[in-house]
Amino acid sequence: MIAVLKNGVSDVQKSSLINWLRAQGVEVHICEGKFQTIFGLIGETSQIDIDLLNGLEIIDHVTRISEPFKCANRRFHPNDTIVEIGSGKNMVKIGGGNFAIIAGPCSVESEEQIIGIAEDVKRSGATLLRGGAFKPRTSPYDFQGLRGEGLELLRKARKATGLPIVTEIMSASHLDLFEDVDLIQVGARNMQNFELLKELGKLNKPILLKRGLSSTLKEWLMSAEYIMSEGNENIILCERGIRSYDPYTRNVLDLAAIPMVKELSHLPIIVDPSHATGKRSLVESMSMAATAAGADGLIIEVHNDPEHALCDGAQSLTPEQFTKVAGKVSEIRKLF
Ligand code: PEP
Ligand code: MN
Repeated sequence: MIAVLKNGVSDVQKSSLINWLRAQGVEVHICEGKFQTIFGLIGETSQIDIDLLNGLEIIDHVTRISEPFKCANRRFHPNDTIVEIGSGKNMVKIGGGNFAIIAGPCSVESEEQIIGIAEDVKRSGATLLRGGAFKPRTSPYDFQGLRGEGLELLRKARKATGLPIVTEIMSASHLDLFEDVDLIQVGARNMQNFELLKELGKLNKPILLKRGLSSTLKEWLMSAEYIMSEGNENIILCERGIRSYDPYTRNVLDLAAIPMVKELSHLPIIVDPSHATGKRSLVESMSMAATAAGADGLIIEVHNDPEHALCDGAQSLTPEQFTKVAGKVSEIRKLF
């Protein structure tokens, strides 16, 4: 349920309404907009007398929200959320008209590799560096990532270039290691690891939440809700393709998810054309399409030697190819 307040309601009136609502057993999330204050009521709202609430002097109107996601719902928070990543002069904003490209290798492999790629992608316009340290591989016999050492190399690359770092967490037991990671990624395979999501909800740090391998938009937004309901509202969604039956592409990139999610939610949404297609030759066209569809950013795999990459070489761009894609994407952004 949402209660939209009239303009000019004083802080004292607001807090007495909040106290009254809490006494009825509901949690109140406050969204202070420029022109409007909205109270999102979560929990046993059936206890609330909607006519009584509607009749209060300070209330403009009250509406029940049928969707199960509340904090992530655009009706709770009409303005786009802007997520800030990193700090100081290298701080990057995503959402609400702010577009950013995250680029880097699938996996961190060595110091020279990650620093070299970081320098290359920065020169071409990427403002965040990706690199997997803990890798969720289908086979336990495949390269599992450099783990803690990989995180250390990412820190070195951040120091060398200033780019904030983005890397995937697979277990809440690794949280200590991720303390200074700028944007923590939850991969497709962990989108419904609810215990992990709850722990991430207790942090004051941005989370990149990838869509599950075959998740509906509602399931995806409910996963965001798990994080938000614990208090962390700094979430960026990432469409990375969903499972289908056609083996030519690794996944099917759901472009319609971009405007659909924007109707349903205020959270920013970026696109991963690399995992969505699995093919280097398709990354440029899908990057442009996603940008044209209104994505708030892209996450693209780039490798200095894709033929010998330890993971996902077939979908990784060379730095030169990335430069071309970033240039075309920035032309499309001029339309916005
Ligand atoms: C990744 O970004 O490295 C990754 C494993 O992606 P996804 O979780 O989308 O498969
Ligand atoms: Mn990958």
